[in-house]
This record gives sequence, structure tokens and C-alpha cells, in this order.
Amino acid sequence: MSGSERNKPVLALNAFDPGRAATLEGELAERVRRRLRLYGSSSVLFYEQPLELVRAQGCWLYDSAGIAYLDAYNNVPSVGHCHPRVVEAAARQMGQINVHSRYLHDGALDYADRLLAMQPRELSNIAFTCTGSESNDLALRLAAGFTGASGVIVTEAAYHGNTALTTAVSPSSYLEDSAPPHVRVVPAPARPEQFAAHVAAAIADFERSGRRLSALLIDGIFSSDGVFADPPGFLRDAVECVHRAGGLLIADEVQCGFARTGSAFWGYERHGLRPDIVTLGKPMGNGYPIGAVITRPKILDSLREREGYFNTFAGNPVAAAVGGAVLDVIMEEELLANAAQVGNYLKQQLQQLAAQRPTLGAVRGAGLFLGVDVRAPAVAATLINALRERRVLIGAAGRTGDVLKIRPPLCFSRQQADLLVSALDDTLQMQPH
Ligand code: PMP
Repeated sequence: MSGSERNKPVLALNAFDPGRAATLEGELAERVRRRLRLYGSSSVLFYEQPLELVRAQGCWLYDSAGIAYLDAYNNVPSVGHCHPRVVEAAARQMGQINVHSRYLHDGALDYADRLLAMQPRELSNIAFTCTGSESNDLALRLAAGFTGASGVIVTEAAYHGNTALTTAVSPSSYLEDSAPPHVRVVPAPARPEQFAAHVAAAIADFERSGRRLSALLIDGIFSSDGVFADPPGFLRDAVECVHRAGGLLIADEVQCGFARTGSAFWGYERHGLRPDIVTLGKPMGNGYPIGAVITRPKILDSLREREGYFNTFAGNPVAAAVGGAVLDVIMEEELLANAAQVGNYLKQQLQQLAAQRPTLGAVRGAGLFLGVDVRAPAVAATLINALRERRVLIGAAGRTGDVLKIRPPLCFSRQQADLLVSALDDTLQMQPH
């Protein structure tokens, strides 16, 4: 990889540059300085003019001056910010009991039952966690224990979490270009027909170095890679190679799960895959930290035989109440169908715009997770900041940050899609071609 082609660390995408703190003015300058003083170098903020958001509803966010911003970025509040059903479930359960997970609680078991009923039959055990990182960390431990192997294959700009194990399999977090010896990095599926061959080559490379394959770890929408969704099913050959080599498929549903892609509730389902381990996180709790690992009992046993696993807050009564309310809202408000309908509409509108504006390239994605190629990373950053000035929030993705990441809450409407597209159009008209 040449210097200019290097991966941009995921945290650098659309990030505020602390070196520019002195250029900010007024109360914003004071707030940013305070945060930098308290958080030090670990402080990451979005936008050249960071935002202070104080309340939210549906797809709208409000800053401290009462200004409304259209949220076309956030998938954590997946059923809409502060959804009253979810807020009520959390408050009610919080007022009744919330305690660690070593007592019986029907609410947690009912929620576990519901989630398992939505998976292939053989995936009949669930271990709750609190975050996507914890889910993937546990999944990697399970895969290593079950297969007795250590090799993991991931895509070139993947992000799978912030723990030591998950950072090692997150090329978008590497500051150097090299992966650790137990990791092989394959290209993002910009050429989906070549994906299986890349995975097969990575497996062969492991074998040459005397290492066996433990798992292929895949985010089914390739979010940080720059959003690659099509054609549905293109991952099947690669997964066959993995299984033939004795490895497991870990389906990371942190981005693509919970109806995001519009055509299926789970990303792996959209591709017709049968994963060995499914990891869940972010959208599961609409803002409450909750995650899970779903797998076959034998895979879970393999860890329990070697070491214990306990997670104090995971699957607690409030987490379960919130998770159940999120599922209720997705079903009752038909958010899967909304993601498909509004997502398709938005994709078409963006494609029409891209046909007229040379700054934009391909529009990819599924449901309400879209990526738009931009001529250069610096142009993408300019557009994202200019949209923020027009009170529309999106983000960046891709190895070098040259993809606009559009991923609103699932209740996004056609009118909101129109607002986004016309704001982007205005922004593009201000750009030099
Ligand atoms: N997997 C994927 C695909 C993600 O995008 C993320 C977070 N962006 C994670 C895992 C980690 O989730 P968390 O930050 O909640 O630990």
C-alpha cells in the first residue's frame, strides 16, 4: 500500500482536529477545550464545528440553541430517538428491579426466547453482553476454543470492536499497515465475484504458515469498508471455503442486524448464510447498551470447558425490557418494510443526483444503509461538514474516507429522504467541480 492509499483509521473519519480548537469561538470553544482537558488525547468528536446535542425525537436531534438537525447517521437509536415505548419499558423496569444476571428473571428469558426464535434452529444458545465489542470478543474466543485454531480472516477496512482481541481483527484501527500474524486481510467486496477466491487464498496462506483457520468474521453490510451489499448471496462461496477448511463463520450483525437492510431482519439472512456464531449490539437497545452472542450449544460448551464467562450487566432485567420493546416497535411499526421502501426511494434519489453531479460516484447499500462514493476523501469531508451546516447529519466510511455513510434511524420518512437529498444537492452546487 502506498502512503496515499493507506487506511485512514476509523476514528479519524469526520473527526474534529483538536489542533484546531483555538479556531473555535464562544461557548463552543469553551466546551471543546473543557472536554479536551478532561478526556485528553482519547477525545474524539465529529465535525469541524463539533455539535452539542441536548435532546432528540424520532429522526431529529436538537442542539443547545434549539436548532433541529436531521439525523441521517445514527443506527444506535434504530427505532427513533427516545421512542416512548422504549423509554417507558426502561423506566418501568428500572423502578421495579435491575440486578446482575445470576438470578432468575422471566423477562430476560422471554427476550432470549424471542431472539433465538428468529435464528436458524441450530443456533439455540444465547450469551448476553453489553456491547458489540464484547460480543465479537466472546465470539472470537468461542471460535478459537471450538476449532483449536487461531487464524481469522477479515476485510481490509473492517471494524469489529475496541477490545484487544477485536482491535487485532479491525484493520480500520491499525495505525501500521500490517496485520498481526493470526490475521489475514482480504479486499472489501468491491468485486463480489472475486471475494471467495480472496478468502480461499487467505486460507491457503495460513496453511503455508502452519496456522489453521478459526473464523471468517464478516460485517454483512461492510460498513466501515465503504458499504458493499450486493448481490445478495455473494458471500455463500466464501463461507463454503471457510467451512471446508474447518473454520467458523461469525456474522457480525452490529451494523446490519435488526431490520437495517430492509430485505431481511438479519444481514446473514439477506445473503442466505447459516452462520456458526451471530454477534449483536448497537441497534438492539435503541441507546441502552446491550449485545449478545448466539451460537450452537457445542460451541458455547467449548469455552465453558476451558474457562468461565460472566458479564455483570449483560441481559439484566432493564436490558431485556428495552430489547423486547425495540423488537415490538420494529414489528408493530413495520420498520423492516419502511427500511426497504424509504431506503429504495432514497437510493434512487441519490442515484439520480449522482448522475447529474460529477463529484458523486456509485451509490451502494441496502435498506437504510447507503454509501455514496465521492471523488476524493477531502471532498467527502467538505460535503459532510457543509451538510452539517445545513443541519443534516451523515458520516464517512471506506478505507480512505471517500464514501458518504448514510444510515438514519429506521423510521426515516420519504420527506426526510427528500430533505437530505436536496441539502446534498445544495451543498454540491457550492463545490468546485
Ligand atoms: N462490529 C461492527 C461492525 C461495528 O460497526 C461496531 C461499532 N461501530 C462494533 C462491532 C463494536 O460495537 P461497540 O462500539 O458497541 O462495542
